[in-house]
Amino acid sequence: MVLILKKIYLFGNWKMNHGLSRTDNFFKEFNNRLVSNQLAGNALKQHLLELAFFPPYVSVLNALGEIASEYKDSIFVGAQNAHQEDQGAYTGEISIEMLKELGCKYVIIGHSERRHIFGETNPVISAKIEKCIEKDIIPVLCYGETLKEKEDGLTIKVIEEQLKSAVDNISTSDLNDKKIIFAYEPVWAIGTGLSATPLDAENICRTTRDILKDTKGSSMSRDQIILYGGSVKEGNAKDLINQENIDGALIGGASLKVDSFFGIINSCLGQD
Ligand code: PEP
Repeated sequence: MVLILKKIYLFGNWKMNHGLSRTDNFFKEFNNRLVSNQLAGNALKQHLLELAFFPPYVSVLNALGEIASEYKDSIFVGAQNAHQEDQGAYTGEISIEMLKELGCKYVIIGHSERRHIFGETNPVISAKIEKCIEKDIIPVLCYGETLKEKEDGLTIKVIEEQLKSAVDNISTSDLNDKKIIFAYEPVWAIGTGLSATPLDAENICRTTRDILKDTKGSSMSRDQIILYGGSVKEGNAKDLINQENIDGALIGGASLKVDSFFGIINSCLGQD
């Protein structure tokens, strides 16, 4: 008998992988696997486990259509980015309202690849977070330091700036109502195979709660959902998730294959 002590969130960021047919294949295999995995099925039904997939925009509808009806309140689909304006002359962009209309529950905002490859700044990310709250879609706010910032001892300063800017115009009650999910993702750990140690990740996630409490007066209790992301895989997921202030994981590479994603699910549920 396995005792699950807290709700676990496992979110898969597919980045620019899995178009329509690969998304269909993924969910065919995923759904088959779920049928035979009683522990995961029960954890989902009891709301002790929540899964979310973030496919490319073009695959969002297919992904939504493939979720078995019995799990529709514990497996969700989100997008990897959105624009902060409602509509207009923004070629190539998708609005938060459009994602909401599709049925997305979540949208990743401020992923390090958006910040560092596409030049998204803290003020832009802050505007996106505000629009998400207005449109009632939950942003998964990514924040974290680069390797250089870590080496220069700037981790806390950087994450404090990112967090304060992101929640600046958000009310304390919206924060306490879990209208934002936080994902600490050290940039040096993303896609590198180098994960933060569970203790280091725990320290930053606890500090995140401190920063939110000091700046917004938000509750220090379990009110904020905080994920860790950065090279999470079957071999390290459980130790990370078992930390007091880490509620789950945002997973890139290891969420692309059903096998490796289930490896993480099973180890987090104590079924290695
Ligand atoms: C990510 O893209 O958010 C991520 C954490 O990637 P990976 O798990 O591959 O490091």
